[in-house]
Amino acid sequence: MDFVFVSGNPALDLAGTVGARRDEPLDALAAPADLERWVAACDELPDRVTADFATFESALSLREAIYRLALDRVRDRPFDSGSLEIVNDMAAGPVPAIKLSDAGLRMSGDLRAALSHIARRGIAVLADPSACLKECGRTGCTRLYLDRSRGARRTWCGMDECGNRVKAAAYRARRRGSTTAEEAASTRSHRS
Ligand SMILES: [Zn+2]
Repeated sequence: MDFVFVSGNPALDLAGTVGARRDEPLDALAAPADLERWVAACDELPDRVTADFATFESALSLREAIYRLALDRVRDRPFDSGSLEIVNDMAAGPVPAIKLSDAGLRMSGDLRAALSHIARRGIAVLADPSACLKECGRTGCTRLYLDRSRGARRTWCGMDECGNRVKAAAYRARRRGSTTAEEAASTRSHRS
């Protein structure tokens, strides 16, 4: 399964590794190796980490805590205290080291450090009163994202993932509707 980074924040992208949460949840992180691939694919994290089972479990609990807190923000309700504890604990750990060179920024550290970085990035966005957090507008897609568009008019988590699908479905529905209307009109004209 390909990973998607459209949420505008790595913590929200981690939360988005479970899709269709309200219907039939689809988990892109089924095993520690999936998490290793996800970390490598995420621009903001070290390129190579190894995941043992315990750290994998911590990552999943961080993911669910971030999702819960972000949903609390979207729904404008107080943060869930258990989830706050998980994210805050994780953020308190050591973070990855960074190094600048002509090639840009290089980050190194183990998976624990990567999770700590994600927890901090999650806290930064959840604590920012001007951050506009939204849930994708496509029915069934439960991905949360940070809307940075002018006037905060973004409706979908991503155009490829959801926007184009909704537009194509609407187009098909309109075509069906106009075909039905044409048939009705021709039936009427045959009768007269
Ligand atoms: Zn979506």
